[in-house]
Amino acid sequence: MEFEDKTLVCQDCGKEFVFTAGEQAFYKEKGLDNEPKRCKECRDKRKAARAEKETTTQQ
Ligand SMILES: [Zn+2]
Repeated sequence: MEFEDKTLVCQDCGKEFVFTAGEQAFYKEKGLDNEPKRCKECRDKRKAARAEKETTTQQ
């Protein structure tokens, strides 16, 4: 099955981002049916925020 790049809208910042064919193949391989809801930037931000929280709670 061929995938095509798809433009989605980030639910956090409202910006459009591309869900690439490669990412779609990756999601499919992992058995994930849901499309990403956030752009990479927002995902990284959330990841960073979570990591920061974890480091602070460990102290
Ligand atoms: Zn975003």
